[in-house]
Amino acid sequence: MNHESTADAGEFKIYNGEYKNLDITDDTFYGYPKVGIIEAERKLLDPNTKSVGYFSMEYGLATSVYNSMKSSRELNEENRRYPSEVFSNIRSMDYFHKVRINNMKEMPIYSGGLGILAGDTLKSAADLGYSLVGVGTLWSKGYFMQNFCLVDGQNVNEVRWEPKDYPGLIPLDKYVKVKIGNDKVTLRIWKYYVFSYDHKHVIPLVLLDSNLDENPPWARDLTGQLYKSDNVWWKIVQRKILGYGGVRALRELGYSIDKFHLNEGHAAFAFLEKVVGLDNSGIKDLKKSFAYTCHTPVKAGHDRLPISDLEKVFYNDEIDILKKYGIDKENDKLINLTYFCMNVCDTVNAVAQKHGEVTKIQFPTYEEKIQSITNGIHIPTWTSDNFRELFNKYKDILGDWERDSRLLSNADKLRDNPEFKEDLWIAHKKNKAQLTEVLKHWFVKDDVFTIVWARRATPYKRLTLIMQEPERLLEMAKRVGPIQIIFAGKAHPNDDKGVSNLRALLQTIDGLTEHSDEVKVICLENYDINLAKMLTSSVDVWLNNPLPPFEASGTSGMKAILNGVVQLSTLDGWVVEAKDANIGRIFGYSPKEGEIGSETDFKMQEDANSLYNSLEELMELYYQAEHSVEARLTNGWISMMINCIAQSGFFNTSRMAIDYNKSVWKF
Ligand SMILES: *Cc1c(COP(=O)(O)O)cnc(C)c1O
Repeated sequence: MNHESTADAGEFKIYNGEYKNLDITDDTFYGYPKVGIIEAERKLLDPNTKSVGYFSMEYGLATSVYNSMKSSRELNEENRRYPSEVFSNIRSMDYFHKVRINNMKEMPIYSGGLGILAGDTLKSAADLGYSLVGVGTLWSKGYFMQNFCLVDGQNVNEVRWEPKDYPGLIPLDKYVKVKIGNDKVTLRIWKYYVFSYDHKHVIPLVLLDSNLDENPPWARDLTGQLYKSDNVWWKIVQRKILGYGGVRALRELGYSIDKFHLNEGHAAFAFLEKVVGLDNSGIKDLKKSFAYTCHTPVKAGHDRLPISDLEKVFYNDEIDILKKYGIDKENDKLINLTYFCMNVCDTVNAVAQKHGEVTKIQFPTYEEKIQSITNGIHIPTWTSDNFRELFNKYKDILGDWERDSRLLSNADKLRDNPEFKEDLWIAHKKNKAQLTEVLKHWFVKDDVFTIVWARRATPYKRLTLIMQEPERLLEMAKRVGPIQIIFAGKAHPNDDKGVSNLRALLQTIDGLTEHSDEVKVICLENYDINLAKMLTSSVDVWLNNPLPPFEASGTSGMKAILNGVVQLSTLDGWVVEAKDANIGRIFGYSPKEGEIGSETDFKMQEDANSLYNSLEELMELYYQAEHSVEARLTNGWISMMINCIAQSGFFNTSRMAIDYNKSVWKF
């Protein structure tokens, strides 16, 4: 078989024959070399090459900030990033100014850390030259657009974007069908290619789309909004499309897949698609080809679906299998997709050491099976330009850190190098200057202590903890020095507690209008990958205060340490594994060994108090460092920044993908 012509004619045959794509030439694809694509497609088609199909409900690919595809056409208006509005305690500025950063909108098929982990996983798999294909959904209405509102907390609007004009995203002339109720819904297959850091290797991503004229109107929206949860039917159907549609798409493309990796229980129905009709020994073999990664210890994170609703979407033999492997232990009218995955997958893993311990307590039957593979971030994606320059200047000592992220642990060897310390401080100051430029209308200054809380505003992450006692912040600011606090994050529209926390936050900020010289508080709406890349690299301290032990891993702090940003964190998720590395301050409640505690007892009072104590220590160190070269070389601030960078040698997806390869993928 001539593989080259397969890749060219088959993979790029797009749905509209008249639409000639000028950005795909004989040897380039949107400005990148095509050889990696041809090689990746060849390996996936080859039954003698071991390949993995990686299923995820969401992908945060960071296509707008790293390896962005270069198109000859002007960016479609709908694919431009809207500027973010601001809610601050200088309200007069909020009316006149918006925050403009990147021109290009991130591909809006993610909601938060889970999706970004999936995207970073694909990138590291590309860097390592693995044969893997991502499978997901083309969310035509994205997640949602947020607009702050003092009365309601947030208002919610649909995302608009134009997939067919999104650079590098290709609709194929290939389709699969999935039965929903009495209808068969057609799904178009789209493709995106994720390039390695050196552009030599590629991971294809297959995305499913029901928004087709040939489908009845109700079905076009099935791949509309990510995590639409107005009723269970939506949840079931979105999961069926990912699982059934995904398996069928891989089949339709002719890929030979040895391992199906379910990134979270959302993808569980992929197993169901393949199991129907198999005998016992067939089932046993099938289980060997499934792997499951569990991402949460929070109850709402585990899908529990009523059998009566599943019966509206699945046949009886499918229901029998769901019952056989997935009955919920507390309620036998429900199918628990976490149990289901733990039963049918050969390997099961949690996403940090601590999360592994907690998962074993929550699911004792599977204690032996549960492994821990700590999450990471893709280093080349999340390194700011100024730090890339810094790391390259010290390449002699660090090594080729973009090729192998683990080499960043060599930053340890620079801890007594005064020139590096000063260069590090300068690189940080340059990043901070970019932030202050973006926020100049709010008079944000680069010599003022700046701290950020930014992530999904889900209750256990405790958005409002640092604002518990505004008087205490004011008092500290007067004594130690001014504070700039930046917030960003969306609450799922059906998460009442998350939305009311946002409302409370805005009201507290509103109450601080007179005090913006001492404590400046800025909320940026529509937190996304663009804002994340800027914020994680440009502030002095990254605040991470989930209620332990409910943060499975967390990854935003990993982006921050990579850029020398000091941590202020509770003892949870990945931070447990870095607790002795002196990367900042760790504070607050932590459950006793072997205990989990309550998900709804937020411990706001006691943890706010310890947060303020640690914050004050960090502010003092920062202001000493800010005011004197002598102090910053000796007072420990820069040492903490170096410790942060050195820890990035572990908390990255390159190390993580190698771990997955050892115990799950086994290429
Ligand atoms: C990294 C990232 C997250 C994850 O944040 P956590 O603090 O780990 O929950 C969420 N959203 C965006 C946009 C990110 O870039």
